[in-house]
Amino acid sequence: MKDLSAALGERKARGLYRSRQVVDGPQGVKVRMDGREFLSFCSNDYLGLANHPEVVAAFHAGLEAYGAGSGAAHLISGHSTAHHALEEELADFVQRPRALLFSTGYMANLGVLAVLAQRGARVFEDRSNHASLLDGARLSGARLVRYRHNDAADLAQRLQAAPAGETLVATDGVFSMDGDLAPVAELADVAARHAAWLMVDDAHGLGVVGPGGRGTLAQAGLDMTRVPVLVGTLGKACGTFGAFVAGSDELIETLIQEARTYIYTTAPPPALAQATRNALRLVREEDWRRERLQVLVQRFRLGAAQLGLHLPESATPIQPLIIGDAAAALHLSAALRGRGILISAIRPPTVPPGSARLRITFSAAHNEEQVDRLLDVLDQLDTSGTVKVSVPDEYE
Ligand SMILES: *Cc1c(COP(=O)(O)O)cnc(C)c1O
Repeated sequence: MKDLSAALGERKARGLYRSRQVVDGPQGVKVRMDGREFLSFCSNDYLGLANHPEVVAAFHAGLEAYGAGSGAAHLISGHSTAHHALEEELADFVQRPRALLFSTGYMANLGVLAVLAQRGARVFEDRSNHASLLDGARLSGARLVRYRHNDAADLAQRLQAAPAGETLVATDGVFSMDGDLAPVAELADVAARHAAWLMVDDAHGLGVVGPGGRGTLAQAGLDMTRVPVLVGTLGKACGTFGAFVAGSDELIETLIQEARTYIYTTAPPPALAQATRNALRLVREEDWRRERLQVLVQRFRLGAAQLGLHLPESATPIQPLIIGDAAAALHLSAALRGRGILISAIRPPTVPPGSARLRITFSAAHNEEQVDRLLDVLDQLDTSGTVKVSVPDEYE
């Protein structure tokens, strides 16, 4: 049997031990932990909707109307008018004929990939894709081929070298740990030349980038003929929970018939769908949230440059500060916490070895003073990442 304590000990020694922070109260730019208040720069609540009064009120109203639980899977008796209306509104938002709700983005990706890529097929994925896209390909039984990050030419070469057969290309729209955008138009050209399906997971793009927050594909002017499969999640910019796949009527009907992570699981609470409908309305109507984010991100990048901090190219609310060494990143995260700022250290295997980082994220609910405070504190700390430090005590 596997020696669990030895494996855990080794993980700690390498600075890779993960532990949870217990948040006491709602999500927001200020969160309470251990009886203290922290200024947070590490949620995916980009538009500040997770605790928005109208979204919370819609959740309450949904509970009154539908009760707490859905009671069954969508295909039995768990699919409510709230779910159905949300699907129609999501389809309208991303300008595709239909959308299908999944319980989570992880499940959506597993479900879609298992249906579209079976044994004998090939799935080509960006090296930096989200774990759920990589796991989906692995579990599908298809052959997984990874291409260099955002490198359409490398993808083209690998497609060229592959034998004929069912082929699917999958990419994040906005990369979750780097914040950069996939070159979706180039990828769509390459995919089309090789008669491959293209699937874009726009978990971090929807609500944040593109006209009206309609995401990476809307920004690039790509419709369903160029990118047949779009995955979106609802736990990020929408502030609630869940995910969806959008595409043609045939795609959605096929998923309803075959996607095991759709069929064999309880439908999410209808009240949650009601809350998300309200959040989606705010996403669509309130452009000022996206404009605010841009102001904050630019202020941060300018300030960081003045401090000599190197940030990779990113125009999204995801602004990683690459530290390198995992233990050094942890140490820095702990030092920030000591100064009242919450930013988690992201370490391998979530990111490649040697590229541990502080994943700094912004929300439309932050203000300028808070960005300046973050810059002040970063200025006080050693962010060079060159010093090898021991794992800070509180992580032991
Ligand atoms: C967060 C995320 C997911 C998973 O979505 P959940 O709803 O949290 O399971 C999938 N893909 C990407 C790119 C993500 O960032």
